Amino acid sequence: MRLSQMHIKTLREVPNEAEIPSHILLLRTGMIRKLVSGVYGFMPFGWRTVRKIEQIVREEMDASGAQEIHMSAVQPAELWEESGRWNAYGPELWRIKDRNGRDFCLGPTHEEIFTDIVRNDISSYRQLPEMLYQIQTKYRDEARPRFGLMRSREFIMKDCYSFDTDAEGLDRSYQIMYDAYDRIFRRCGLTFRPVEADSGAIGGSNSHEFTALSEVGESDIAYCEHCNMAATTERAACVDAPAQEDVEMLPMEEKFTPGTKTIEDVANYLGLSQEQTIKALLFVTYDEEGEENGYVAAFVRGDRDLNMTKLVNALDIAEHQIEFADEEKMGAATGCVGGFTGPTGLHDCTLVVDSELPGLKNLCAGACKEDHHLINVNYGRDYKADIITDLKVLKEGDPCPVCGQPVKHARGIEVGQVFKLGTKYSASMGATYLDENQKEQLIEMGCYGIGITRTMAAIVEQHHDEDGIIWPISVAPYHVIITLVKPNDEAQKALGEKLYEDLQKAGVEVLLDDRKERPGVKFKDADLLGIPVRITVGKLAGEGKVEYKLRREEDKVEISVEEALEKTVALVNSERRG
Ligand code: ATP
Ligand code: MG
Repeated sequence: MRLSQMHIKTLREVPNEAEIPSHILLLRTGMIRKLVSGVYGFMPFGWRTVRKIEQIVREEMDASGAQEIHMSAVQPAELWEESGRWNAYGPELWRIKDRNGRDFCLGPTHEEIFTDIVRNDISSYRQLPEMLYQIQTKYRDEARPRFGLMRSREFIMKDCYSFDTDAEGLDRSYQIMYDAYDRIFRRCGLTFRPVEADSGAIGGSNSHEFTALSEVGESDIAYCEHCNMAATTERAACVDAPAQEDVEMLPMEEKFTPGTKTIEDVANYLGLSQEQTIKALLFVTYDEEGEENGYVAAFVRGDRDLNMTKLVNALDIAEHQIEFADEEKMGAATGCVGGFTGPTGLHDCTLVVDSELPGLKNLCAGACKEDHHLINVNYGRDYKADIITDLKVLKEGDPCPVCGQPVKHARGIEVGQVFKLGTKYSASMGATYLDENQKEQLIEMGCYGIGITRTMAAIVEQHHDEDGIIWPISVAPYHVIITLVKPNDEAQKALGEKLYEDLQKAGVEVLLDDRKERPGVKFKDADLLGIPVRITVGKLAGEGKVEYKLRREEDKVEISVEEALEKTVALVNSERRG
């Protein structure tokens, strides 16, 4: 393609709202174009890279035996009512009505649709297993769309669903997808880590997230360098502090602790360590219709942080069904007192207690009385729980839940997730098959998503410098850019055009920068766009020589045009598949 004929608009200025490199660079290169908050279009360079990523995903899905289909983004509410998610999904679900007032949504994901296909088309064990996938536009009305393609309201996702006769079959399908994801993200040039992920109230080792390591990522992961443990911090189990079996319970005592509303304040005031205190966190919960339906008090040791995902799973509700409580309002109903709430004085609310607290003795907690705390509070004698479960956040340096060595933390971008659904959807929507004995059985399902456009942003996060993007060859919009220093110079033009043709004949995707711009502008654009190979045709053209430079390296060499052709073809062919 000749740059002089391309629709291209690069920006010199950094757009204000863009904070992270991928957002800034994708806008500056003109690869993406914002329409409204969280909604982007793709311009020629951007769309070529999207299609490259899609193609890698498609090849690996096809090679895994999955079959591509394409379903609509418009989904009827009835199917979501059957699965129970029409109400449960919350405000992220982009609901629409047709002219007759019938409810629909723009699909944030397609479990219902694929389950519907399979329940209609599959009747016998002979038709299973099966994997179906699509690469399609998804809609989520995110509360805080940000970072460009990273968290948008419209985005492209590959979603795949597996259908098996039994749990062993599902395990096999899951492993096939896990391995395919490993190849896909490698081919995209990403440095990533598969980590165990939260799988909701079902629990168990039923899900992995594929996380591209990056400081700007929104996923927090904990991993251990001594064993293979790697999990999202939402999911990571915590080791309880050892139970103090030999410590005697002392008599509970009330203390006047004026103005000590934080753990730090009360610990200092009473001369205790934070480990000797109990932290209370108070919540109100909502039913699926959004009506208030109760209060929850969660308790962890004073120095710990509450893990919201674990709390939500323990209560078996969705994240949008719980929020921090207005303590004054809650106090009237339950007896809590803001800053002085403890587990001993509460009524009419669900007490969820972290699993290590029952083993710890003589702790300090709020007295549910203004300016007062209790000391020597002990589980069993002084308070009881409705639910006891691990509610803690695993912090850097805490013991690894598998081997006990100190864990490390890293940040990353969730680019994909694999998930064993089991019979969740087949049971609610009646997707069954007849087994060898003509007995009706539920289909075992898995779902597997990759954010195509988020992956594009993640690649930019890992492959850029201060001058622009540095695309890996496998996903670069073009492999090579030939920069004509003086497009009007006959020798330069002739050599450049010949090379342009020869590279195309060799199957290389090549740009010819024949614009009537200053060379400096051309070099800047080539660097910004991140084209992997730059061949400059300048004053040595008369001798048949060009300058050859890789975007990812500093060095440039002057070589014959034949050698440049040979080097480029060899490099592109060895790296184009990633
Ligand atoms: P997140 O936790 O980041 O909101 P999710 O776990 O809800 O994502 P999934 O339902 O697992 O997302 O969707 C599959 C993939 O789709 C994700 O791994 C991610 O790559 C991509 N994705 C999800 N939400 C968005 C979004 N708002 N913008 C861009 N990509 C997204
Ligand atoms: Mg996910």
